[in-house]
Amino acid sequence: MVNEKYLFRYLIDKLYRDNYLREDEIVFLLENVKLYGNDYLIQKADETRRRVYGDRVFMRGLIEISNYCKRQCRYCGISALNPKVHRYRLTKEEILASCDKGYGLGFRTFVLQGGEDSQFTDDLLTDLIYEIKERYPDAAVTLSLGERSFQSYRKLLGAGVDRYLLRHETASRELYESIHINSSYDARLEALRNLKRLGYQVGAGFMVGIPKQTKADLAQDLLFLKELDPEMVGLGPFIPHRATIYRDEEPGSLEDTLTMLALTRLFLPYALLPSTTALASIDENGRELGLKAGANVVMPNLSPVHIRDDYSLYDGKVSSGYEAGEHRKSLEKRICQAGYKVDMSKGDHIRWKNN
Ligand code: SAH
Repeated sequence: MVNEKYLFRYLIDKLYRDNYLREDEIVFLLENVKLYGNDYLIQKADETRRRVYGDRVFMRGLIEISNYCKRQCRYCGISALNPKVHRYRLTKEEILASCDKGYGLGFRTFVLQGGEDSQFTDDLLTDLIYEIKERYPDAAVTLSLGERSFQSYRKLLGAGVDRYLLRHETASRELYESIHINSSYDARLEALRNLKRLGYQVGAGFMVGIPKQTKADLAQDLLFLKELDPEMVGLGPFIPHRATIYRDEEPGSLEDTLTMLALTRLFLPYALLPSTTALASIDENGRELGLKAGANVVMPNLSPVHIRDDYSLYDGKVSSGYEAGEHRKSLEKRICQAGYKVDMSKGDHIRWKNN
């Protein structure tokens, strides 16, 4: 009979060495991590990130450009299903002013995120992107605006967009279909593949602790990521929003999220992996603990202050204090205290070779 504790450690070493495990092996780790703890896993993930990116933590400025959304994601507070949201849409001038503020604070990546808002047409976005790129030629522009057509992604890339974030949310078809209305799992994956094909730096990612999510589902997330090989992976705990059908569900836990972060780092050593706002929202030290578990990116909020509370994806989303771009210095202090250092450069993926 194999000693299970020995096997647990052996699999972590194997993952550290090969950056791969089979589904049954991942499930074994997930089933035993409560018993044996995730210290060793986290240590190996930290060693891996230090080997690849050193102790650098890349900063991105997040601008939440619109909370209008035509999609019906059952877990999301700004989905079309929620009639109570106060909807806003930033103007070109407001977006440029946010970039300007961010640039002055030293940010060299702007992430424009929003709901799927039909008013943000290709023409409007290309015009905006040309302007940002002209003003800040040394900054990267990342979009996170949901599913768009191949042609649209091509036009936006042509206008100078560098990166695109589109989480797959969950690699389980069944779970995906149960948490979305009028959405197609195949279309989501096709959009991700289109982005890859076009040559974007692509970010996929998933939520941890979605109601009814199993350990096998989480193992599928890792195997899906390994196959897609995205440059970035956004992952954070699922957190219920009071206006959704999940209002009474438990949020994903800190421990589970840290375990998944560490596993993701070990599967994809080169990935740019944010320690997300959702993680910071469920635990006071979530941000730092995420960094220690292998994350190497943080994305403070640069949106105009008066709309921040309206971009409410889940309850308790932190948007002030260390999460706010204008408090970059205090965030920097905390990152240093955790044993890392802030890197304000554009921070491309290693494959882009201009780091
Ligand atoms: N419309 C864009 C941006 C979505 S918001 C898109 O479709 O990609 C960014 C991310 O927030 C989502 O991908 C989702 O993973 C996360 N999110 C939304 N609601 C959440 C919730 N209740 N708990 C945790 N994360 C949530």
